[in-house]
Amino acid sequence: MKAVCFEAPFRVAIVEMPPPAPGPQDVLIRVEAAGICGTDLSLYAGEHDPRYPLVPGHEFSGVVVDVGKDVTGFRPGDRVAADPNLYCDRCHYCQRDRQNHCEAWEAIGVTRAGAFAEYVIAPQQSVYSIGSLSFAAGAFIEPLACVVYGQQRARIRLGDSVLIIGAGPIGLLHLQLAKRAGASRVVVVDLKPERLRIAEQLGADAIVVSGQEEPLADALFGISPYGFDLVIEATGVPEVVQEALSYVSKGGKLLVFGVSPNESEIRVKPYEIFRRDLEIIGAFALRKSFAAARDLLQAGAVDINPLIGATVNLEEFPAALDLIRSGRAPMKIQVDPQSRCAPLKQQVPGV
Ligand SMILES: [Zn+2]
Ligand SMILES: [Zn+2]
Repeated sequence: MKAVCFEAPFRVAIVEMPPPAPGPQDVLIRVEAAGICGTDLSLYAGEHDPRYPLVPGHEFSGVVVDVGKDVTGFRPGDRVAADPNLYCDRCHYCQRDRQNHCEAWEAIGVTRAGAFAEYVIAPQQSVYSIGSLSFAAGAFIEPLACVVYGQQRARIRLGDSVLIIGAGPIGLLHLQLAKRAGASRVVVVDLKPERLRIAEQLGADAIVVSGQEEPLADALFGISPYGFDLVIEATGVPEVVQEALSYVSKGGKLLVFGVSPNESEIRVKPYEIFRRDLEIIGAFALRKSFAAARDLLQAGAVDINPLIGATVNLEEFPAALDLIRSGRAPMKIQVDPQSRCAPLKQQVPGV
């Protein structure tokens, strides 16, 4: 089969390899859609301790083509997606229901072969039926499950004001869930007006273009004089994370959702956290939220169509990677390993 392979930092190749054979508990899936995300860029750059050579790809859906002898819940032909996070259910953290911190944590497309390939293996306990959901939507279950987990941690209350910084695919998923969760007003900030137009289509109550002449603080406090009950930081830019705290109202919360460079630092005044009753919340990956995300997509509660910028075949993966790294990618790029998509340059003008 054909697969994308990260061979060393900043070295990507399209390779031919034998399709994986399922073990007794495994499901072999023909990949129909797989999303490229920031984690893939980090693995490409050598961050997150990748074990090269690595076939990346952890956001995917497809069709079951073979199952191991002990698999009972699935059979060939089933439409499925898989939670890439694999945990032991026995360690210190798993025993305390914090499986995303499992000491034996593995992830499909991070520590073992992933879905930027014609076929991928997943243990049956991580496989979920997607029914008639489109494969493109199926490949959005994983990022949405991370967003569901983040919002479960952030506990939006009816009537809360919410600020989302960053209108990429993740910010726009947060927007849709915050509206569902009962926020009275959701304001979205981004540098790119075209992304904010999509935020408006998806129900943002106000949008603010940052990097303009008017300071961002003036624009935001103009809209919400007391700040926001919840600020969701979805850029991962350290300076933005630091600034985000100033937009949290007294007694409010900051959800640090964007992934910052591992060694970056921000300045925070402890007195301010004390005096203003601030809560700073992290949310790593997902925890038992895959089914909830699948259900939300099946119910039509979240629209992913405006979040897909392009779909590429495996050969064009390196070109898509370049596009994302240069900041010119139109939203989420998905890979179709079965090559049913138009050339990238027809989808993204100027590539
Ligand atoms: Zn991801
Ligand atoms: Zn564990």
